[in-house]
Amino acid sequence: MIFIADRTVGKLVKWLRILGYDTVYWRSDDLRGLLRRARDEDRTLITKDTKLYKDKGSVKALLIREDNPFLQLQEVVRLFRIPVNKAMLFSRCLACNAPLEAIDPEEAKEEVPDYIYHTHQEFSRCPSCRKIYWAGTHYGHMTTVVERLQKETA
Ligand SMILES: [Zn+2]
Repeated sequence: MIFIADRTVGKLVKWLRILGYDTVYWRSDDLRGLLRRARDEDRTLITKDTKLYKDKGSVKALLIREDNPFLQLQEVVRLFRIPVNKAMLFSRCLACNAPLEAIDPEEAKEEVPDYIYHTHQEFSRCPSCRKIYWAGTHYGHMTTVVERLQKETA
């Protein structure tokens, strides 16, 4: 399942990407363009904008009611019954949505701080913005969130 979301749910976009879901973040005011892209690519629209939701036509959509990003994420996971698992964490660039590619630690060496290089074994790179990812400090927090999601949406 792939998504498209507007600016009303920016934090949720980040979380869907953390979970590994292909999510386009539509920042422009051109909402017709958004709906066109959703239709063309068969993406499910996620928004808090009731007007946009009403104008969705044939586009599949979810109108988010919660304000808190965790509760929003729960709404999406519950409604679409999308799988949540730790193996999918960090499979996608949080900035540009591109799927990450695993790279050799040697390749990361020049670009990450020394202590990161020495304390991590797995690195991946975004083919689009070239950003390097590793299972760093946020990882523990994110794993906790995933565990909570699994428990509360079971
Ligand atoms: Zn990127």
